[in-house]
Amino acid sequence: MSGTARPTAGSVTVRVPAKVNAQLAVGAARPDGFHDLANVFLAVGLYDEVTAAPADELTITCSGPDAAQVPLDTGNLAARAALALAARHGIAPGVHLHITKDIPVAGGMAGGSADGAAALLACDALWGTGATREELLAICAELGSDVPFSLVGGAALGVGRGEQLTPVEVGGTFHWVFAVADGGLSTPAVYGEFDRLTAGRDIPAPTASEALLDALRSGDSGALAATLSNDLQPAALSLRPSLADTLAAGTGAGALAALVSGSGPTTAFLVADEASARKVADALLGSGTCRNARIAVSPAPGATVV
Ligand code: ATP
Repeated sequence: MSGTARPTAGSVTVRVPAKVNAQLAVGAARPDGFHDLANVFLAVGLYDEVTAAPADELTITCSGPDAAQVPLDTGNLAARAALALAARHGIAPGVHLHITKDIPVAGGMAGGSADGAAALLACDALWGTGATREELLAICAELGSDVPFSLVGGAALGVGRGEQLTPVEVGGTFHWVFAVADGGLSTPAVYGEFDRLTAGRDIPAPTASEALLDALRSGDSGALAATLSNDLQPAALSLRPSLADTLAAGTGAGALAALVSGSGPTTAFLVADEASARKVADALLGSGTCRNARIAVSPAPGATVV
């Protein structure tokens, strides 16, 4: 803790990746309303950038095709990250944050979480607060379950609410196509639908799939395709039945596997290589079942000052 940190000159930009869940195993609702998870995160090469510049007070702007959907008040995770860091260090949160948004908004790719992690790192550098990695991760966990992974990147198993991370080894590059849907899906609404669909059933404790971890370790796309899973998919499909058409369009065009990304409505397609990625992306765009199709590889590095 320090009351003496002074703003450094200039601005700091941090680049931060989106994520896909290679496995999202969901346990029963806990008394606090959260669900225990076994969450295998993979960072993918679609990036937001957050620039922190000296300012008299906290302000926030956003650019990019989906910018109109991003809150510009303290509901923005980037703003909350700046406030949390400033409060811990007893300094005024004087910063202008600009988000260059390329990660689909409310798409199940942790775009808001990514901006939270990026803003934290950018403000730490701008203010010279010198927070340790441990402290940054603790603030991330307070901000949201997916935020610590956005800081760390690569691949990791998240347990608890998903925020307790262990690195996962990845032995190669995986190619993905992401179909961006029209409109978002609210993560709490998808969990609510999960609870409704599973009411009265015995839900096993979530555990990571050893076969999936082996597939990641070996870098084998075929093996990974056979082991991808998302327990939230039935709930996302129940709330948005048209996603089944998107999934079918991608598999029809040769994707090795198709699944809803996190809580959706973005759908993720694992493909064999770059050529297949282009073919699947073209087919998805031509199918009229999605708003956009994006190609990306994983793993990608976590939040990084550029
Ligand atoms: P997750 O995969 O972590 O569940 P998501 O990718 O589905 O998240 P986000 O893009 O993080 O969804 O946005 C979810 C909601 O969070 C948005 O509707 C928006 O109101 C709010 N939000 C807060 N901060 C941000 C931000 N920096 N960028 C986008 N949305 C934000």
